[in-house]
Amino acid sequence: MPVPHHLAPAPAPIRVPDGLASDANRLLWWIVDATAARTGDDFFSAMVSHVAQGLGLDDVFITECVDHPVTRLRTLARCKNAQLVPNVEYALAGTPCETTVMERRTSYYAEGLAHTFPQSAEYGNESYYGVPIFDSAQEHVIGHIAFFDNKRMEDKVFSNPLFHIFANRAAAELQRRRAEEAASTHLQQLAHVARVGSMGELATAIAHEVNQPLAAITAYARACEAMVAADRAATPDLREAIQGILGQAERAAAITDRLRHFMRDSDLTAERVSLHRIARESIALAQPDARRRNAAIQLTEGADACDVLADPVQLEQVVFNLLRNALEAGDPARGPLTITIETRRAGAEAILTVTDNGTGVPPGLRDQLFHPFFTTKPDGMGIGLSLARTIARNAGGALDLDPAYQSGARFVLTLPIEPGDDA
Ligand code: ADP
Repeated sequence: MPVPHHLAPAPAPIRVPDGLASDANRLLWWIVDATAARTGDDFFSAMVSHVAQGLGLDDVFITECVDHPVTRLRTLARCKNAQLVPNVEYALAGTPCETTVMERRTSYYAEGLAHTFPQSAEYGNESYYGVPIFDSAQEHVIGHIAFFDNKRMEDKVFSNPLFHIFANRAAAELQRRRAEEAASTHLQQLAHVARVGSMGELATAIAHEVNQPLAAITAYARACEAMVAADRAATPDLREAIQGILGQAERAAAITDRLRHFMRDSDLTAERVSLHRIARESIALAQPDARRRNAAIQLTEGADACDVLADPVQLEQVVFNLLRNALEAGDPARGPLTITIETRRAGAEAILTVTDNGTGVPPGLRDQLFHPFFTTKPDGMGIGLSLARTIARNAGGALDLDPAYQSGARFVLTLPIEPGDDA
């Protein structure tokens, strides 16, 4: 088959270690070598085009499963008739790929494909080889690699161990892609919860502030009402106006009351969750920001299990808020920013501390940190710590600043250990 030039990169000279002298090995080594330095979509394209060229196959593609349980597949890269072609999504039923994906095994049809799969006969393929790709736990099939040809297919190359190294590389690439997608969905979920949580905290704070003047307005209006009632000369208009003030003040009080219960009444999902795991996941989420700021985040995990009863996304938000504050507290005068998270069990309590060597909190400000809207940052909202404390308290715990810590700031989250944890 002629090698098309547009399939980047131009095939490099075949350099193979001694001992790989057979044709199949030389060919596979060439493919592995050509794709070694590539990642992501670039890897998938390089892989299918090199395999198709190298093995002289008609149609080679790599797929990922679209749904679960699987009914549809989507190609991530496809080389058909020596061209990289646009990706497609297709139904699994009745195709040879169905055996590979549903029976979770390599499937091989050396010839007579149209006879075995009449539904796919229109594609004019004679032979097929399919390799499933599993998730990192080796539990679910997440995609597959498909090789089609319009002539009989020999299995010499596919039984070569190098071929499996290469299939494993494709699996690793697909798993990495899945993990990235999962992390980004997770971040979006966290951002959503943060927005909803901040709104709740904001609503609670506003309700609290507005309730005091409202109570005063109501009291004054009641006094006026009593005075007007005693004064026969008062006009009906005046009486009506005072009734109006009273009615509206009561209505506003009812609204703020509803707002104040917003957080408490929102249906949270409390489940058993490991504080160690929450710490690890929050660190992973904060890592890109830490890298940008040249800060190091260290984790010290106690040996005992630290299972607590809480909403995992909310709890992650608490730790993430503390981490974000620590990252924003860097002080060049104190050298590179280092943040340490420690999780440990102390009796019936699970404790998580976030310690940084940043600017620290001046003693005069310590009492105000957890008040809604308190901020010292030009673009701060002052909601993070008050929300984090509300979440901690809703889970039966507490969040405080350690007043004894002087070399930066240390925040301490304490939560009751979930009974039944026998560690
Ligand atoms: P915001 O980050 O929007 O200011 P927060 O409620 O999260 O709101 O924090 C309130 C204030 O607490 C911050 O503006 C800052 O002054 C102080 N603070 C929080 N964490 C730290 C820390 N790790 N080091 C120093 N100050 C902090």
